[in-house]
Amino acid sequence: MEKTLFQKILDGEIPSEIIYRDDVCAAIKDINPQAPVHALLFPIKPIARIDAANPEDAEMLGKMLLAVPKIAKQCGLEKGFRTVINNGPDAGETVPHMHIHILGGRQLHWPPG
Ligand code: 5GP
Repeated sequence: MEKTLFQKILDGEIPSEIIYRDDVCAAIKDINPQAPVHALLFPIKPIARIDAANPEDAEMLGKMLLAVPKIAKQCGLEKGFRTVINNGPDAGETVPHMHIHILGGRQLHWPPG
């Protein structure tokens, strides 16, 4: 199977600073940030999107959620942050390797576009 964008980044084939890594996931800065802080947290195992996850992924997904506030704190997001998971074309998913957007550093609006 062809490597995903995030696998290529992890393997150093595409340059990007890894700002967080543990045994199940890693985070990078988004190349096209939508807020002063915009990180992407993805599983090292390349699940295409959240609706492709299986019950066996539950522990890994739980660890990812627990990593989110650590990354937010590391990025200085004391006043709050937002997480987004785009799933499929209507949501605007462009990278088919599941990831959690972590956004903050400005007042975020609701509803999102
Ligand atoms: P999606 O649209 O799939 O939810 O999010 C994919 C994200 O990956 C987008 O916000 C996009 O800016 C980001 N992205 C696309 N290509 C690259 C890249 O080469 N490096 C980094 N750091 N981010 C990327």
